[in-house]
Amino acid sequence: KNSDASIMLEAHELLKKFYHHLLLNTKEGQPALDYLTDRGFTREIIEKFEIGYSLDSWDFATKFLQKRGFRLELMERAGLLIKKENAGTFFDRFRNRIMFPIWDHQGKTIAFSGRVLDKSQEPKYLNSPESIIFNKSKTLYNFHQARLHIRKHQQVVLFEGFADVIASDKADVPYSIGTMGTSLTDEHVKIIRRNVESVIICYDSDQAGLNAALRASDMLTEAGCYVKIARMPDGMDPDDYINKFGKDKFKNDVIGASLTIMAFKMQYLRRGKNLQNEGERIRYIEEVVREISSLEKAVERDHYLRQLASEFSISLDALKQQQLQYYKAER
Ligand code: ATP
Ligand code: MN
Ligand code: MN
Ligand code: MN
Repeated sequence: KNSDASIMLEAHELLKKFYHHLLLNTKEGQPALDYLTDRGFTREIIEKFEIGYSLDSWDFATKFLQKRGFRLELMERAGLLIKKENAGTFFDRFRNRIMFPIWDHQGKTIAFSGRVLDKSQEPKYLNSPESIIFNKSKTLYNFHQARLHIRKHQQVVLFEGFADVIASDKADVPYSIGTMGTSLTDEHVKIIRRNVESVIICYDSDQAGLNAALRASDMLTEAGCYVKIARMPDGMDPDDYINKFGKDKFKNDVIGASLTIMAFKMQYLRRGKNLQNEGERIRYIEEVVREISSLEKAVERDHYLRQLASEFSISLDALKQQQLQYYKAER
């Protein structure tokens, strides 16, 4: 007798294949295919990431599953269907959306995320709820395809969005994985650390992405990873960047030019300040020294203090004294 979990997996597998077929081979799927093509998704990419399309229908998946003998209650628990409160009948969770399968780390489909085609609809991405087969806080998007590359290159790049992971993979960075918009969890960190030491965080270049990147970098550093943060022009995300500037610039000027956390913070603190102005310069130096004082390793603190001393021709002693004040105040 099959367990509930294995039946849920089977349903996901069948639906994934059908969504994929609808996208590639049907008239109904054509607008979705055009949308993806406009965004730079090639046929090869659509196939590699098993992208699909769910029809603009309330009962397509319901009937599809029913016909194949799946118990609808179980399909509701799998997140594929929604139960109508009073009537006790079921309808499709995903309607008229571009379907991204979410895989477990062995490559089995355990959930979906559906993206709207048109901006006016909400939410932009609709995810399957958690279930006995889908634990969001342990799932990293594309991990099953990236794992071998991560190990071979001793490197991983972490993104926020599906489109970012896919664009990065298309740009020949196959060690790309994603958190799917949720914040990085301790479980994610453990999985990453078990496979690799060196992590580049490549989140969206907006306030939310910046905050999330700093938080993720703290967690990963804490777990013993070497973390760098990639920078893009304000307001862009990695997918935008790759489509606009191409893969070589992405690899060289974004991934290749990623910064250590301290360098990243220093660049951030510099923004909007005129360092020719004495007052602003001193404020900048104080802010950097404050950041330096929060570093765990004495060797690192020394390194950045010396760098700062030489850049602004200040005595190292003065910086050290200042740093010590912050250091004591904090601990
Ligand atoms: P696109 O390029 O398709 O517009 P994006 O990845 O740039 O998408 P963001 O708004 O930057 O979208 O969000 C990053 C990620 O957060 C998404 O890829 C998705 O995983 C998740 N996300 C975004 N909006 C939602 C939402 N309304 N509900 C659930 N998850 C969401
Ligand atoms: Mn974003
Ligand atoms: Mn984005
Ligand atoms: Mn985007």
